Amino acid sequence: ALTQKLNDIFKKLKGKGKLTEADVKQAMREVKLALLEADVNFKVVKDLIQKISERAVGQEVMESLTPGQQVIKIVNDELVQLMGSKEAKLNFSSGGITVIMLVGLQGSGKTTTAGKLGRLLSKSGKKPLLTAADIYRPAAIKQLQVVGEKLDLPVFTMGQQDPVNIARASVEYAHKHNNDVIIIDTAGRLHIDEELMDELSRIKQAVNPSEILLVVDSMTGQDAVNVAEEFNKRLALTGLILTKLDGDTRGGAALSVKAVTGCPIKFVGMGEKLENLEPFYPERMASRILGMGDVLTLIEKATQSFDLKKAQELEQKLKTQSFDLNDFLEQLSQVKKIGSLDQILSMIPGFSPQKLQGLELDEKELVHVEAIINSMTPEERKNPSIINGSRRKRIAAGSGTSIQDVNRLLKQYEQTRKMIKQMTDMEKGRKKGKHRF
Ligand code: GDP
Ligand code: MG
Repeated sequence: ALTQKLNDIFKKLKGKGKLTEADVKQAMREVKLALLEADVNFKVVKDLIQKISERAVGQEVMESLTPGQQVIKIVNDELVQLMGSKEAKLNFSSGGITVIMLVGLQGSGKTTTAGKLGRLLSKSGKKPLLTAADIYRPAAIKQLQVVGEKLDLPVFTMGQQDPVNIARASVEYAHKHNNDVIIIDTAGRLHIDEELMDELSRIKQAVNPSEILLVVDSMTGQDAVNVAEEFNKRLALTGLILTKLDGDTRGGAALSVKAVTGCPIKFVGMGEKLENLEPFYPERMASRILGMGDVLTLIEKATQSFDLKKAQELEQKLKTQSFDLNDFLEQLSQVKKIGSLDQILSMIPGFSPQKLQGLELDEKELVHVEAIINSMTPEERKNPSIINGSRRKRIAAGSGTSIQDVNRLLKQYEQTRKMIKQMTDMEKGRKKGKHRF
């Protein structure tokens, strides 16, 4: 996979002292190949490599103490830039009802995503209505109804009538029933055709959506990018949702689609389950691609599935600045309960994708963390800032780990503490009526 290839390339650089221009050139050739093999759009690769090379042979790298690291940082920055630099939020209609139209080819994940998105919106305090406008197969309507039932969300159906009328009628229905967001699940085809595009533009005209989101299967790589270009030409998309990222081992679509179409990726589907939809964070995706793990996503998940009482206790602790390593350990054991194991582990820093293949290693890593914390004195757990160099040495020896392991753990703890603080701040904001999406 791309991650592994890039890792190998950078490992060679990391070990080096001063880099020569030839070193950088060689590494860039390899990065280019890795990106092309990952099915990243050719033009995108060319531009990217040029930008990275320009910066990498510059002073910023040559004169730095850790030139290899510096190159990685540049690659990371440029990948982030490529994917959109910051989280793209949903647009909401300022006055009335927000209409979100989901479009895309058959099987891309529209119906599933309609449910997932409805779930997220409803969690953020909205009252979504799902509208069944894929009229060509009765099973499609039924599928959305099943999804709605599972999530306890209302589904608007009118059987197999003109989808334009259905869309219009669902807006009226939403008015009457106090729904503030409508998610329209539209029909797809196996290939783009005039008839489909025409129908979608007529729905667009009829209901003036705040968002037209293209749902694309990331596993189709460059095809996904081509599909996005076509839809964008006809419908002026406001954003993209990349589905099946859980099965995408190449990352080509995620890396190219924004650069090629200009449309931001707003969400990513990470699995078949209705809870597997996440906002897209370019920075995290870049780190994940570079194999640095994705501690922020992990922690966000963890804090989401805290029960309320625990969350309040935690908030209290943070207010009094007493979130310590005991709490961190407790939090890790919570993490164990969430989602599938490999999904979680792929986000832990230091976990390479190959490790995921042998699941017995994964449990060991968590045991590692527990061992380290258990080797600390109660005093150290309560007040991690006192853990200096010699204490680190002792803890590493006591837990049968290395000083680097201890350092990494302390860093993770620090990140977690910051993240939780941000989350509780955000939670407070939300209670005052602000929404995340
Ligand atoms: P539609 O034809 O565009 O409405 O697509 P569906 O919503 O019916 O989804 C097609 C298939 O893709 C279903 O089997 C879904 O479970 C699956 N699917 C959708 N999103 C994801 C995802 O993010 N990850 C995985 N692994 N499967 C997904
Ligand atoms: Mg469908």
